[in-house]
Amino acid sequence: MAHKQVLIWYRNDLRVHDHEPLSAALNLNAEIIPAYCFDPRQFGQTSYGFPKTGAFRAQFLLESVEDLRQSLQQLGSDLIIRTGKPETLIPELVKTLKIDAVYYYQEATSEELRVEQRLKTALNSLGVDLQSYWGATLYSIPDLPFSIAEIPEVFTQFRKKVENHCIVNPPFPSPQKLPPLPKLELGILPTLQDLGLEPPVVDFRAVLTFKGGETTGLKRLNDYIWQQDCLKNYKETRNGMLGANYSSKFSAWLALGCLSPRFIYNSVKKYEVQRIKNDSTYWLIFELLWRDYFRLIALKHGNKIFYSEGLRGLSVPWKEDLQQFESWKTGMTGFPLIDANMRELALTGFMSNRGRQNVASFLTKNLGIHWKMGAEWFESLLIDYDVCSNWGNWNYTAGVGNDARGFRYFNILKQSKDYDLNGDYVKHWLPELSNLPPSKVHEPWSLIPVEQKRFGVILGVDYPQPIVNLEKSVKANQSIYEVAERQRSTQFIPGK
Ligand SMILES: Cc1cc2nc3c(=O)[nH]c(=O)nc-3n(C[C@H](O)[C@H](O)[C@H](O)COP(=O)(O)OP(=O)(O)OC[C@H]3O[C@@H](n4cnc5c(N)ncnc54)[C@H](O)[C@@H]3O)c2cc1C
Repeated sequence: MAHKQVLIWYRNDLRVHDHEPLSAALNLNAEIIPAYCFDPRQFGQTSYGFPKTGAFRAQFLLESVEDLRQSLQQLGSDLIIRTGKPETLIPELVKTLKIDAVYYYQEATSEELRVEQRLKTALNSLGVDLQSYWGATLYSIPDLPFSIAEIPEVFTQFRKKVENHCIVNPPFPSPQKLPPLPKLELGILPTLQDLGLEPPVVDFRAVLTFKGGETTGLKRLNDYIWQQDCLKNYKETRNGMLGANYSSKFSAWLALGCLSPRFIYNSVKKYEVQRIKNDSTYWLIFELLWRDYFRLIALKHGNKIFYSEGLRGLSVPWKEDLQQFESWKTGMTGFPLIDANMRELALTGFMSNRGRQNVASFLTKNLGIHWKMGAEWFESLLIDYDVCSNWGNWNYTAGVGNDARGFRYFNILKQSKDYDLNGDYVKHWLPELSNLPPSKVHEPWSLIPVEQKRFGVILGVDYPQPIVNLEKSVKANQSIYEVAERQRSTQFIPGK
């Protein structure tokens, strides 16, 4: 009997380890045809006009696809590469190669789901089966102790329920060998220029050289967990901002699926048996649960995570002050912690979690600027951009998410002192402040003229004056936010 021909449509699952569609096709003894499409829509513009995929992430993506092709070649197969819309290109391949079924990992958000739907329609008319799998999270959907519609809105409730009622399944075994591809034009990897982008300039101050691909992702995991033995201290170091090892830096590889979360989970469990089990080893899993939560919440609420009113349906009259937004984007707000983080993002495509929380709070709670402008800027620049984690976290920090805790903000000055006492981090990114003593480095506005001269930083010339008053701006934006909350609650009184 002729073998079934299965096309594996690769998307954000650029790996061969723990890959359910690949395993399923192998179990069928099928001919396996792996394919990847560079979708031009991913290289368009966001609603505020930023490149939807900036150069850092595009480069990481190209490296990841190339690495996948090499891994598949080593297993005896290869990767078909095309540029165009998957809903057009996959049916063409299906017709040419007489494919019986297409397997793929399902996504959670509307743009991706629309492509899936269109592909389904096209394949239906060809009588070809389209089989979806869920694999981006630690927990599998069928194992969840609630339906998607019943996913708890509050993270802690979600976490407790999954931790108490389900298990993380073991990873699927990696294939040892794959069937060769039939003769066809395999397609070449596009260049950054083909995607309309210039190669990013590498900044030597970056926390890490992020190179895309399963091979480097697994190497980073091995390095962080096993070689450098960092996991045992993760909980204490994870709020850092400087250096490669304060946190795992797994996010970029997770976002493109070069690393599977279940594989990480498994490695943590092995580490707990072989080395040590403590709060830190648990905490990495705890953080991965945030990732699960945001993805599942996005699936539950559909497009609401992209609405201005967010998941809470809160109509805050956000500003679109382009001048202040420019100061935020370019790291010229006059607040060193914010500026250092924003410059790190612009120059490397990465920012720590501590940094992200602070700059997002500053944009929305101090400047009162539309959180979606910030979310789109992150979307453009982040090497680890993940639709659900990015938009979910922005909902959360802007106070329009599904946690009902009202107007919460970060005290930027306190955060600066708590997490960068000596100013090492801000000096790393703001060389103009390098001569300032720790007592002044987070408050350059307090320097009197003679000090400015002594430390070589003239305010308004070498470094900007603050663009807002921290306390007054928070109070003003809190009032605006609370009006929106009152309006929302009156709208929701039953019978009104
Ligand atoms: C405004 C804002 C936007 C963000 N945008 C993204 C994004 O686009 N992509 C992204 O992966 N993360 C995003 N995060 C979450 C978090 O900042 C990054 O996952 C983390 O900084 C990546 O570094 P790491 O891998 O060293 O993290 P670690 O501290 O080592 O954490 C391990 C893993 O847990 C997950 N994780 C940790 N914190 C979170 C969180 N708050 N939400 C979801 N997952 C988490 C990530 O997958 C991360 O790789 C955002 C956070 C904020 C506040």
